[in-house]
Amino acid sequence: MNAHRSHVGAAVAILAGLQGACAWAQNKPDAIDAHLTAAKNAAAFDFTGTLARLCVAPAAVPNVVRDVAPGPAPARNTWFTEPAKVFDNLYFVGSKFHNSWALTTSGGIILLDTLYTYNSEEEIVGGLKKLKLDPAAVKYVIITHAHSDHVGGAKLMQDRFHSRIVMGAPDWTSIEKSVHGYPEGKPKRDIVADDGQKITLGDTSVTIVTTPGHTPGTLSMLFTVKDNGKPLHVAYSGGTAFNFPSTGPNFEIYSNSQRKMAAAAAASGATVLMSNHSEFDNSIMKIKALAARKAGEAHPYEVGAEAVARYFKVTDECAQAARLKLAP
Ligand SMILES: [Zn+2]
Repeated sequence: MNAHRSHVGAAVAILAGLQGACAWAQNKPDAIDAHLTAAKNAAAFDFTGTLARLCVAPAAVPNVVRDVAPGPAPARNTWFTEPAKVFDNLYFVGSKFHNSWALTTSGGIILLDTLYTYNSEEEIVGGLKKLKLDPAAVKYVIITHAHSDHVGGAKLMQDRFHSRIVMGAPDWTSIEKSVHGYPEGKPKRDIVADDGQKITLGDTSVTIVTTPGHTPGTLSMLFTVKDNGKPLHVAYSGGTAFNFPSTGPNFEIYSNSQRKMAAAAAASGATVLMSNHSEFDNSIMKIKALAARKAGEAHPYEVGAEAVARYFKVTDECAQAARLKLAP
């Protein structure tokens, strides 16, 4: 009797399990669709580039550590763009696709990200000079993460101008471990960033928010700019695409960081969203719009707190959809 009961119990348990699995199989596409729809609604017309990259055509990356040599430099006309003053105290010295920013303070310059090795000399050093800023005044360089499109000029700034380089610990380690990634030399480990750390120069501070996901040491930031004297709070997202090994835990880490940054941005009153790729924050278009701005019009970067929140909803929802797609 006991044995019979246990057989029945086991059969019921298996049946329940199968029913659960069937329900999951039916619900999984719906659940993925719900995340994709939430992301699409959050993106609206503001963040279509982010939506396209993360939800429409996300990368599927094998679970191996990549350590490849950088390819040859592409033709100059594919990346070169002129530098620009964007706020009273923030200058664009990036390329057509990658952003690098000079935040000016009463004690010198804090540089955010450094493009590739092949274009950092012309865009950053040359760009600062064109804007009548002194590259030797760059006291800090904050690198959001150690990929070749953001860390490429760090060694130049460290060697030539003795700028202090700030980066997350795991990304410093990835540089040190790399065999092929830095044929022209590596920046030496300098300041290791911590969550909540303030990088202060003169009258200005940049607050670090650690947002692991895109890389294990990805840093995002909060700081204040001025638009004709009016202070505006900026949320700067340090890593966006899903080009990390595609595993459930990695997507979970990524999503958690998006929610963490959304909360930090809201608490700081951020109404400006910036990224290190113009694909994600529309920098090139906004800089053009700025040149055509009429008196009394809002700054093109001032999208409002609600839109800043929607940006991090897009990245979070797309990551949740990608994670569900991986589930068996
Ligand atoms: Zn990257």
